[in-house]
Amino acid sequence: MNPRTCVIVGGGVAGIEAATAFRARDADSRILVLTDEPWPFYARIRLGEVVDGRLDPQGLFLRLDAWYAEQRIQMQREARVDGIDVPGARVRLAGGESIPYDALLLAVGARPFLPPFPGAELNSVATLRSMNDAVQLRRRMVPGGTCVVVGGGLLGLELAASMAGTGTAVTVVEAASWLLSRQVDPEGGAVLQGMLERKGVAFRLGAGVLGVEESGNGAARVLLKGGESLSADLVVVSAGVRPDTTLAREAGLAVAQGISVDDAMLTSAPGVWAAGDCAQHGTGLYGFWSAGAEQGKAAGASMAGAVVNYKGTVRQTTLKITDVAVFCIGDMSAPFDRQESFQDGDSYRRVLMDAAGRVAGAVLVGNLDERKALVVSSMTGRPYRP
Ligand SMILES: Cc1cc2nc3c(=O)[nH]c(=O)nc-3n(C[C@H](O)[C@H](O)[C@H](O)COP(=O)(O)OP(=O)(O)OC[C@H]3O[C@@H](n4cnc5c(N)ncnc54)[C@H](O)[C@@H]3O)c2cc1C
Repeated sequence: MNPRTCVIVGGGVAGIEAATAFRARDADSRILVLTDEPWPFYARIRLGEVVDGRLDPQGLFLRLDAWYAEQRIQMQREARVDGIDVPGARVRLAGGESIPYDALLLAVGARPFLPPFPGAELNSVATLRSMNDAVQLRRRMVPGGTCVVVGGGLLGLELAASMAGTGTAVTVVEAASWLLSRQVDPEGGAVLQGMLERKGVAFRLGAGVLGVEESGNGAARVLLKGGESLSADLVVVSAGVRPDTTLAREAGLAVAQGISVDDAMLTSAPGVWAAGDCAQHGTGLYGFWSAGAEQGKAAGASMAGAVVNYKGTVRQTTLKITDVAVFCIGDMSAPFDRQESFQDGDSYRRVLMDAAGRVAGAVLVGNLDERKALVVSSMTGRPYRP
């Protein structure tokens, strides 16, 4: 094949894995990664460690300049793509420059979802997705201050624990009546809540946010349904993410919730692939690191001409809070034939299985000893043997 130009929009895990996989199969073509961030590829999943000051941004960098040079991958930072001309096979940068491509990958990730409550636009309300967000949050944390985290999912809980560890008084507001209500039953939620309360995190469960108001000196008041209000120096909303589909929609690509891709990660447009948090494979929207990595690898190989047959990624997550062990695998909303639930003190387990005993979804809290057996059953389809 003649040398070509492979353009990748997005320098996160999907983009960088794609660039690596492309280079492994094609030594000669030009690879250009365009990212709107000022940072090199970093461990987005560890941003909490920048928020609480355990690490500087540099501590999260995953590839140094020498690696890009060695791989002959050009990384252009602060380069925002604001349009794609599919018939002309070019991308347009925000500054006006137009770049031709032979193969284009959209690896633009996802954006935090901000529920439309009054006050969501206030300065005291923030979200955490990028390194810039983490640096800003770190700067805005007031010693001995107060923070309300809206949303008690895995990310919100991690952030709450990180901030509580710095001496900030943190309250998590969660609409469901118990934590991780989609994954665990009320007993499991109570075990997790107890562990986090011992780390200094307070909770308002079954509590909806009506709005946020300014209360002077840059502080805010979070108004809850039921009449209570919580004052906070900082309000962080952690209410999930939405795939970033703007560029794809504007270019006329097929988009469901994410950018629709086939088993080779190809979109509906010739010469355009998508991978990671922005992509939707069948009904699968993932939103986690290992899926972004696998999809990026598949897309990069496919763009270099390999035959690729991506079939989905097993969902696995671990809560990254010291001394608070939580592990989730599979889909807790999947149909199941039987379930096993177990609770003893600070240890909780819930496993959903099909008729043959294969794991459809499972959650462990406190004690992760069963993790290996669950991974084996989920990955191989063999019956789960505790
Ligand atoms: C705080 C936090 C903790 C997390 N913890 C976990 C965890 O424990 N486990 C887990 O599996 N997952 C976790 N995740 C999710 C995980 O980080 C994502 O699933 C993963 O980063 C997705 O990778 P991606 O490459 O698809 O997108 P991203 O990493 O979001 O990269 C996309 C990049 O594209 C850039 N971009 C977007 N639009 C443009 C444009 N028009 N022009 C140029 N560049 C553009 C973005 O700025 C970004 O740099 C966490 C996420 C966060 C924020």
